[in-house]
Amino acid sequence: MQSSRGNRLCTTCGTAEPIGDTETVFPMCWTCPACGTMLAMDGATPLLAPELADTMSGMNPENFAMLKEQEETHFWFRTRNRMICGLIERHFPRARSFLEIGCGNGAVLAAVARMRTWDRLMGSELHPSGLRHAQMRLGGKAEFVQMDARQIPVQGVFDLVGAFDVIEHIADDEVVLGQIRDALIPDGGTIITVPQHPALWSETDRVAHHQRRYRLGELEAKLERAGFEVVFSTSFVSLLLPLMMASRLISKLRPQSPGAHENEFAISPGMNRMLGMVTGAEVSLTLRGMRWPAGGSRVVLARKRV
Ligand SMILES: [Zn+2]
Repeated sequence: MQSSRGNRLCTTCGTAEPIGDTETVFPMCWTCPACGTMLAMDGATPLLAPELADTMSGMNPENFAMLKEQEETHFWFRTRNRMICGLIERHFPRARSFLEIGCGNGAVLAAVARMRTWDRLMGSELHPSGLRHAQMRLGGKAEFVQMDARQIPVQGVFDLVGAFDVIEHIADDEVVLGQIRDALIPDGGTIITVPQHPALWSETDRVAHHQRRYRLGELEAKLERAGFEVVFSTSFVSLLLPLMMASRLISKLRPQSPGAHENEFAISPGMNRMLGMVTGAEVSLTLRGMRWPAGGSRVVLARKRV
């Protein structure tokens, strides 16, 4: 086990308390030693932002049930998982503690958990309804908290923090990047994926409660401003970009009935297999160091500047 490292912060008064060696980051019913505030709980899950639990901010909680089915089989989730794990292996081989922000159903966290032996795994989510699925999936291998990414109440705890298609839902994404930096140990790292190219903005982004698609270089610049040094950055879903552009164009030309975009993940098994082969080949090249100039999404890995 790692030696004691980092602090938890009281969300009411900000007091920092060292986290014990064998303790969870937020033990059940933790009480602040300074102001006496007791942690709100939903069953076994600490609520660090109870006023925002299962509100509509950022995402419709009902989408979690639909997403869980898709995550098991859909090429996009499978390929993205393989890329995330491969890039972590390549750039952060020694990380032993990991926090995933906006972990949803825990599909990525489950894949990360299988990579190596971790001293500490934590998943956070604004919506407890997503966390219940994640808890079942991880079966005790990770700690979960309901949390607002704009207020991450830990200091110097994690080797690595990930946020996968999360910060585009948040108006003030730079606050989140600053909070990620504070949650990391001095030479800790982060891995972030976002949708890319404002020109690809469509009804799908609006329905998904996205605040933006990122311009080229935008996420890297924001990470530098937040105190990070970028170590790897590439577009992905690059080989499917022409297809995405065509489908976005078609949906702009032909207005669809409300709700038609709710199920953009519904594709035939044959199409799923074919797109899986294309994106799978792309990820294999990415994991050998290839960087793609354009693509539907971007992944950036960065290290905290000391
Ligand atoms: Zn307090």
